[in-house]
Order: sequence, then C-alpha cells, then structure tokens
Amino acid sequence: MQRVDLAVIGGGIVGLATAWRLSERFPGESIVVLEKERDVGLHQTGRNSGVLHTGIYYRPGSLKAENCRSGKQAMEDFCREHGIPFEICGKVIVATCEEEIPALEEIERRGRANRVVCRRIDVPTLRDLEPHVRGVTALHVPEAGIVDFRRVAQTLASLLEQQGHQIAKGERVVRLTETADRVTLTTVGGTWQAQWAINCGGLYCDRIALLAGLRPAVRIVPFRGEYYDLVPAARSLCRNLIYPVPDPRFPFLGVHFTRMISGGVECGPNAVLALAREGYRKTTVRPGELVQTLAYPGFWRLIARYWRTGVGEMVRSFSKRAFVGALQHLVPDVTRHVLRPGRAGVRAQAVTRDGRLADDFLLDESERMIHVLNAPSPAATSALNIGRLIAEKLANKRQV
Ligand SMILES: Cc1cc2nc3c(=O)[nH]c(=O)nc-3n(C[C@H](O)[C@H](O)[C@H](O)COP(=O)(O)OP(=O)(O)OC[C@H]3O[C@@H](n4cnc5c(N)ncnc54)[C@H](O)[C@@H]3O)c2cc1C
Repeated sequence: MQRVDLAVIGGGIVGLATAWRLSERFPGESIVVLEKERDVGLHQTGRNSGVLHTGIYYRPGSLKAENCRSGKQAMEDFCREHGIPFEICGKVIVATCEEEIPALEEIERRGRANRVVCRRIDVPTLRDLEPHVRGVTALHVPEAGIVDFRRVAQTLASLLEQQGHQIAKGERVVRLTETADRVTLTTVGGTWQAQWAINCGGLYCDRIALLAGLRPAVRIVPFRGEYYDLVPAARSLCRNLIYPVPDPRFPFLGVHFTRMISGGVECGPNAVLALAREGYRKTTVRPGELVQTLAYPGFWRLIARYWRTGVGEMVRSFSKRAFVGALQHLVPDVTRHVLRPGRAGVRAQAVTRDGRLADDFLLDESERMIHVLNAPSPAATSALNIGRLIAEKLANKRQV
C-alpha cells in the first residue's frame, strides 16, 4: 500500500493540469497521477484538433466561457515559459449562405459578451485571409491559435516528477473506497491510499464516479471524430483555421480545416457514435461498453431527438464523397483526390437522463473526491483553469 496526500485519476491534460494546480495550491503535499496507459495524453488529449479556442462560442457566464478565456491565457503563458511551440494564427468562421447569418451573428454576440476580439468581414477580406474559401460573410477571430496538447501534457508530467510527485503509468483504477478520512484506490498493480482524490478519467469518468458510489446525473456517450489529411500539394488550400457556422443545437463545431502546429492540415472531425469508448476505428466494438450505453435511457432519448443528424454523420463516416461534400461547402476546390484518411479521436460527451448533450463543463463531488464529469472541447485549452477551479473547490471542501 502506497500513501499519498492527493491522488488524481487520469493522465490526460485535465488530470495533469489539475495535479499541477494542486501542487501550487497545497505545496509540500505528495501527489500521484494514476494513468492506466503506458504514457500520458494518449486519448482525447493526444487526438484532437490542437486549437487554442478563444471562448467565442460559449454561453456568457458558463464554465466554458469563463475558463476558456483565462485558460487560454494561462496555456499560452505556460507554453512560453516551458518552450512549447504554439502559434496565434487566427481563424475564420464562415457563413456559406444567407440562412447561416443569424447563427453567425449569435456567435459574434456571444464573442463580444465574452470579450473575445472578433470582427465581421466581407468577402474580399475573407479572400485575403483564406483565398480558397467560399462564403457570403465571416467572422475573423485573430486570437485563435494552435498547439500540441499532448506535448503540454508531457511537459506537465515531467515538471510534476521533477517536483517529486509520481506519475504512475499502467495503473488502471478498478476499485474505490471512500471513508470519512481517506480514499483507497485499488489499481491493477496495487493499492494507493490518499487523503483526497480527483477523478479526471475522461471517457471513463462516469464509470469511475460509479466506482466511488456516486450516482452521476450524466453518462458518457462516446462520439468518434474522424479526420482526413490534405496531401502536401494541397495544403495551400488552407492557410490557418477555417470553420463553418456550427449547428447551435450541438456542442460540436462542424468539420473544419485545421493547420497543425507540427505541419500539415487536417479536415474534420465529424461526430459519429462510437461502439467503444476508445473506439478509434469504425470496427472497434466493446460489447460490455455498448451494452452500458444501450441500457442508459438518456441514450435512447438522445437518439429520438437527433436521429436525423446522427444518420447524416454516419453517412459522412462511411462515404468519403459525403465527407468531401461537407468540406466543399467551405472550400470548393477540395476534391477526394487531395484527402487521405487521417487520425480519429473520441469525445467524452456527457448525456443527461432526458437525452440532452451536456453543454457545459460539469463537476460533482463525493465524500472525499471531486469528479470531472464533462470536459469536452474546449477543455484542453481551458485545462489549467479547470485545474485551478478544482484546487479551489478542494480547498473549500477541506475546510468543511
Ligand atoms: C476529435 C476531438 C477534437 C478536439 N479538439 C479540441 C480542440 O481543438 N481544442 C480543445 O481545447 N479541445 C479539443 N477537444 C477536447 C479535448 O481534447 C478534451 O477536452 C481534453 O483532452 C480532455 O482531457 P481529459 O484529460 O479530460 O481526457 P483524456 O485526455 O481522455 O484523459 C483521460 C485519461 O484518463 C485515463 N483513465 C481513464 N480511466 C482510467 C482509470 N480507470 N484508471 C486510470 N486512468 C484512467 C485515460 O487513459 C486517459 O489518459 C477535442 C476532442 C476531440 C475528441
């Protein structure tokens, strides 16, 4: 049995940023990050668009809005301090027809309310910024940027280790017992005892909350996001970041063009139901996990509500022609010949019992734990602030 003051479950960017903030808030206390994989940042953190979001989309006053702006600033400062490359390259959100303008105006309104620098631009200005884009008007958001979040996670892990904290890899938490004065965490490799623990389990956060005896108000439904890569000869079709006007009913931003900090341009991601929580291929099925999803009433209510959109996403997943069609709305010169299948990521999206996609970040508490139950995009951008928020919550919990 190993004893520590604080345990964090999950070595993704949220777990590591939380451990980092805990180390600042509670100096002198020992911390372990328990990660089931052989390395940190292998799931959502290492499989995303790598965009430093500005906070333009989110409902003013929401946790997403509040943590994205200051979290982005903190992320930029952290990258600068630790020599992690990032670039503030700006993005355009493009209305491709008149019908999309009201939704674009709503984004602009939210952006201003959230103090995001943005401006409406006309077609010639849009063409100056992104010569291959077709649209009727657009929003230019100069503060948006790109970074490699996995690299941030790896840097956080090394800094924590340098401070004497532990990053315990290959340690999947399989059992949790909370008593009045401690949490016992049983992993596949042994047992840890902590004063307090934080659940940052990403795609498994709801299962971990259940292990702790919490009855979470949401369950994770995994949505795979598939990407195509532009072949090198076609990369000039996108200079920086080109986004559509998203469907306001969904927390997903729609397939976009993203220049990556490591080079290359990715197109995507779509949003299809995954048949396994870490189902990065269409063919990956985990029957036990699928049964859990199918047994959740919120899942069926979600399907009843959004089946049409779901079918459209499935078609785009199986038909390259349909995927290319969606991209051509924004950049007509894209053809199937310039796209190669790329990576995929899976979003941990919390769904409520009445079938709604939880729109905001969501935290809950059990006796001696804090659980992060919804941390989808822009949680990578916001991670350092989410970590600070959790450290503050824990400080309050300890005083009670
Ligand atoms: C396709 C896609 C595109 C995205 N694009 C962006 C973007 O451009 N910008 C942005 O800000 N955000 C983006 N996001 C969201 C962002 O990636 C996530 O919000 C963020 O990475 C969440 O981090 P996390 O640490 O909560 O989860 P994860 O990175 O998934 O980490 C959770 C960790 O917990 C571990 N774990 C799970 N169960 C256990 C257990 N029982 N015991 C021990 N360890 C366990 C896992 O192995 C994993 O390492 C995107 C996400 C996806 C999927």
